[in-house]
Amino acid sequence: MKNKWILITLLVIAVAAAYWFGKPGGSGNKELGIAADELTSEILAYGPRPPGSDELTKVKSHLAKELEANGWITQLQEFERDTPIGKVKFSNLRARIAVETTDTWELDVKGILCAHIDSKYFKDKEFLGADDAASACAAVVVIANYLALHDREQAEQLELVFFDGEEAFARDMTILDGLYGSRHYANQWRTLPNKPKFGILLDMIGHKDLSIRIPADSPEDLSKRMFEAAKKEGVSRRFGTAPGSIMDDHVPLNLVGIPTLDIIGDFSNKPWWHTPGDNEAIISAESLGISIGVVLRMLDGLLED
Ligand SMILES: [Zn+2]
Repeated sequence: MKNKWILITLLVIAVAAAYWFGKPGGSGNKELGIAADELTSEILAYGPRPPGSDELTKVKSHLAKELEANGWITQLQEFERDTPIGKVKFSNLRARIAVETTDTWELDVKGILCAHIDSKYFKDKEFLGADDAASACAAVVVIANYLALHDREQAEQLELVFFDGEEAFARDMTILDGLYGSRHYANQWRTLPNKPKFGILLDMIGHKDLSIRIPADSPEDLSKRMFEAAKKEGVSRRFGTAPGSIMDDHVPLNLVGIPTLDIIGDFSNKPWWHTPGDNEAIISAESLGISIGVVLRMLDGLLED
């Protein structure tokens, strides 16, 4: 009789623990979406954050603090480039989970989770880049902090990168203008052995009419995993493929042999894209929760394989 009660007590504890520590499904994603929405607002409160600006420096330290409070250590990767508006100082923000016994930055990681932190430079208008890509940076921080607290093993296998200078200074991106941060970052991996096995880039993933359109030439395994994750989350209708390739921070990573998926919202012919219309009003906590849920599911599989 006593054994039976011990068994029942253990079972209750196990169920409660599973509930408590389990991956957030449905309502859990909702909470993470709300957290990412709030962090997006905090980023936007600094104002436009083009490369080289004080506002961008402040946003970087804001995100670094959010991460460091949950066990991440951060590093700025600084460099300077000639641009159409003259010499500009850039810095990518990197983060890894602190590992006490050794130099964390020397360890191999399995994957990269990234987004661009700069907002596009405009001489004559106030551009905040709420979905392009403050919301994606907020999502990366929320995912990272969730993993740091609930699945430290997975967190330890990730490197986070917030790319500077994704946007071109001229109106349109060229081979020399744009992707400054990701080109610099990818280049450091070029000659190194033990490169990360995959990358996930987030861009424009918080729009209220969420419609993810990954590039047509995306790495096959990663796109398959994304569509499967979306199916399991019950959000398949939000995920599709763009008609062609897309110029974004995943390109330099793919070129150095780190297969990277650009989970990017549809921006083609959207009136808000690269205009003052890309502000807080178009961001939705629900959309952020959907994107976060799909990425967490993908990471679950990718980091366990
Ligand atoms: Zn942009």
